[in-house]
Amino acid sequence: MLITFEGIDGAGKSTQVKKLKKFLMEKGHEVLTLREPGGTIVAEKIRDLLLASKHDITPIGELLLFSASRAELVQNIIVPELQQNRIVILDRFYDSTTAYQGYGRGLDLETLRQINAISSFGLKPDVTFFLDISPEDALIRKFSEKSIPLAFEQSELDRMESSGLAFYQRVREGYMKLVETNERFILLDAGDEPQEIHNKIIQKLAPFCSN
Ligand code: C5P
Repeated sequence: MLITFEGIDGAGKSTQVKKLKKFLMEKGHEVLTLREPGGTIVAEKIRDLLLASKHDITPIGELLLFSASRAELVQNIIVPELQQNRIVILDRFYDSTTAYQGYGRGLDLETLRQINAISSFGLKPDVTFFLDISPEDALIRKFSEKSIPLAFEQSELDRMESSGLAFYQRVREGYMKLVETNERFILLDAGDEPQEIHNKIIQKLAPFCSN
C-alpha cells in the first residue's frame, strides 16, 4: 500500500509521517517511510542540488531534477517494497510537482501529467493526505523552528523566503484543485493539534489496514 503526504512547506507532514509509521508498526505492519526528493544515493544528491539552487534554476530544469529523483526512488525502492507487501509512506510524490511546478511555477499541466506518469512508472498512491495551512501560518511555523537544531534545513527556509508568499498561495490553490478532483485525496486542517490530525489519519486508514 502506498500512502502519500502533501502540503506546502511547514504544514507538518514529517511529524505526521513519523506518527503514522509508529502507529502502523505497533499494529504489526512492515512500514517504510521515504521523502521526496531523496531516498536513494542519487536522489539525495539531486535533493541537495535542488535545495542549494534556491530558485536559480529554470522551472523546466527544476521539474526534470525532481522527476529524475522520483524515477530513482520509485524503480529502486518503492516498487520492490510494495511487491513485498510493505506499506510505503511517502513525504511528497508527484502531486507536489503538479502543485509546485505546475500551479506554482506555471508549467503546462498536461506536460506535467505526462512527465509525472513517466517518472512514477504509472504508480498511483492508494491514499493521499493533504495537510492544509496558509502560507503565512506555514512561514511563522517554519521560522519558529529555527532555534531547534535539526528540525529544519536552512536551505529550505532560504527557498521559502526567495519564493515569496504569492508563490505558496498558488501552490496551495493547486493542491485544493487536486483535492477537489481526486477521490484519493483527504483534506486535513494542518492548524489542528498534531495528535488530533493523527487520529483523523488513522480513522481514514481503517478500511485499508484491517489488523
Ligand atoms: O519535502 P520538503 O518540504 O522538505 O521539500 C523540500 C523543498 O523542495 C521545499 O522547499 C519544497 O518547497 C521544495 N519542492 C518544490 N517542488 C516540489 C517538491 C518540493 O519546490 N515538487
